[in-house]
Amino acid sequence: MKLTVYGTEYRRAAAGRRAKALALALLMLFVCALGPSCAAERPAERELFLMDTYMKLRAYGGKAEEGLDEACALMSRLDSLLSVTNENSEIFALNAGSGQPTPVSEETFELLSIAARVSAKLGDSFEITLRPVSKAWGFTDGPMRVPSDEELASLLPLVDDDKLTLDPDVGAVTLPAGMQIDLGALAKGYAADKAADLLKESGTEAALLDLGSSTILAFGSKPDGTKWKIAVQDPKNPGVYAGTLGISSGSVSTSGGYERYFEQDGRVYWHILDPRTGRPADSGLLSVTVLSGSAAEGDALSTAIFVMGVDKALELRRDGGGFEFIAIAADRIYATPGAGAVFTPMGEYAEVPLEIVN
Ligand code: ADP
Ligand code: MG
Repeated sequence: MKLTVYGTEYRRAAAGRRAKALALALLMLFVCALGPSCAAERPAERELFLMDTYMKLRAYGGKAEEGLDEACALMSRLDSLLSVTNENSEIFALNAGSGQPTPVSEETFELLSIAARVSAKLGDSFEITLRPVSKAWGFTDGPMRVPSDEELASLLPLVDDDKLTLDPDVGAVTLPAGMQIDLGALAKGYAADKAADLLKESGTEAALLDLGSSTILAFGSKPDGTKWKIAVQDPKNPGVYAGTLGISSGSVSTSGGYERYFEQDGRVYWHILDPRTGRPADSGLLSVTVLSGSAAEGDALSTAIFVMGVDKALELRRDGGGFEFIAIAADRIYATPGAGAVFTPMGEYAEVPLEIVN
């Protein structure tokens, strides 16, 4: 009898505990739906080394894992097609060609078409056919060295993107013999755009694709509703931030002399070259960060603005626009209105004059 009473009480207590546990589980589910801290809301993540860069990909939503696997496979394929140093790449084959039409994959053709269109818009500050000159400096293949004036003068006639011919009917590219292409200024941006397309198609709700800090692409809303916070590097101090950008979506691309350079006889030589001289760009800027809808275009723009300087960049913006930028010089920061509105300078950059330019 006692035992039965105990048992009844035990069952009652157990039923009470079950009801409490159920209520707690329901509450947890509800909190998970609202907050960022639950396992279900944790992003899928991948880290990989491609295109000479450490990449970090983060995606949210039901299909994020599968989406990221596909995105990684796609980026690995793009790396093997576009690498300028890999002997099996399509760009290597094109550069080694004898001036005859070379058939290429759909992706390489698409990227070359984007590059040709952007290059025509950017004038003489941006040339993908700079490869013979950048090879002489050794920035990609080494050893890094300062070419003589005569050597540069002999290579500069090989730099001219207008001589690249694209035949969409057969998907072939013709590059005159001796000329060579390097897509380093926009290949990462193109890879980010393609990866984002793939992720969106596969049902990923939001993602942050960081291709080595210098190319970042975000889309969709973060589960906690806050903006994506993107760091802008301090061009004078590696690893330190000059500030942050808060964006809802789009690409952020940075080009700076600090990314790859060498010193000789007290002078610094960096990897972004002025196609008019064949020498490191000399616009007075230390870095340029471009905000744009397309990462490929944003990537090309940040390189080109680093070469052309602020005044020409503003002319370009007035002529067609579609982008915002932050340009860091030694004594000030220039920002177009849309970039200035979302930029928060940090540390010593909070004291540097911020000039809104338009
Ligand atoms: P990173 O690759 O370090 O992110 P950028 O996006 O600025 O930097 O691209 C630099 C690369 O672009 C160089 O390594 C070189 O391959 C190429 N490049 C350099 N100068 C130019 C230029 N004026 N026009 C087109 N491509 C350039
Ligand atoms: Mg670039």
